[in-house]
Amino acid sequence: MNNILDLNLEELKEWMVSNGEKAFRAKQVFGWIYSNFIWDFDAMKNLSKNTKEKLKENFYVGIPRIVKKFKSKDDDTWKFLFKYPDGNIIESVVMKYKHGNSICVSTQVGCRMGCKFCASTIDGVIRDLTCGEILGQILAAQKEIEERISNIVLMGSGEPMDNFNNVLKFLKLVVADYTLNIGQRHITLSTCGIVPKIKELADENMQITLAISLHASNDAMRKNIMPIANKYSIKEVLDACKYYINKTNRRISFEYALVKGVNDSKESATELIGLLKPIMCHVNLIPVNEIKENDYEKSTCKNIHEFAELLKVSGIETTVRREMGSDINAACGQLRRDYISE
Ligand code: SAH
Repeated sequence: MNNILDLNLEELKEWMVSNGEKAFRAKQVFGWIYSNFIWDFDAMKNLSKNTKEKLKENFYVGIPRIVKKFKSKDDDTWKFLFKYPDGNIIESVVMKYKHGNSICVSTQVGCRMGCKFCASTIDGVIRDLTCGEILGQILAAQKEIEERISNIVLMGSGEPMDNFNNVLKFLKLVVADYTLNIGQRHITLSTCGIVPKIKELADENMQITLAISLHASNDAMRKNIMPIANKYSIKEVLDACKYYINKTNRRISFEYALVKGVNDSKESATELIGLLKPIMCHVNLIPVNEIKENDYEKSTCKNIHEFAELLKVSGIETTVRREMGSDINAACGQLRRDYISE
């Protein structure tokens, strides 16, 4: 049995033809799944009984099951714990904004990057998610909130560039007009900076936003908190970013989680300005989300403000991420850990 969400239109057409069906049936099936949110082959009214039987023998629609759902008090953040048929659990978060709903999807069960401040990586990676399993998170969430999801960020558990082929297939599928028709510019892929894959993504000539988890203003500082920094220097990462900009003409988004006493000094801000000033970018400062598995603390409000001001005054566009859903532990692998340890 195969997850039909892992197939693109060409692949389903081929399957139809090689199983004695007309190619146009593929589009009908995807219409039910992606436009009508009908995931039971028997309910796809314009298919013959015979076609439905064949589909049922070969495919299932791989929508993950919601095992828990949390809503923040103000109702604008929904967090889902999803379970796949093999029992693995992942998290997705929906954030409701005036300009549209955004979903943060996971790309792996766990993560093997080992960033010190992150809860998703503590037990390493269990497995990659397939393209269809990533898509399934969006379908399940959209059905539940009963509103269209128009923006996607790949910032849940997992390192998207460590699951590149599945993620690339997902990106191409989710923008297709026969699936969810998401605008390429409404997708952000966040990476800890796997240099060769950044270049490969650039060569795909898509218009998606690349976000880099930088979190440090020099290599020594970065090596302390992100093991990937032992493999690629900041200079190599920034060179790959320049390559991405040249290819796509898209501005890069840099994420910088402010940790008290680790990376939040004025000297760090100045050093960061030196790194990023020549690059067409935007900086997203994130007060680090405190998790019980480590001792990292958020920078003070005053520090965050001063850090942001220095960047802004130097001409770097900077925002401080609004903390949404902190009353439901909406960040970074904490729900999954709590659930599994229960
Ligand atoms: N692996 C990818 C995407 C998933 S993490 C990446 O590294 O970018 C998404 C973002 O959340 C990254 O910027 C990551 O560094 C950040 N993050 C993880 N744990 C965090 C925490 N405790 N507080 C703030 N940001 C965190």
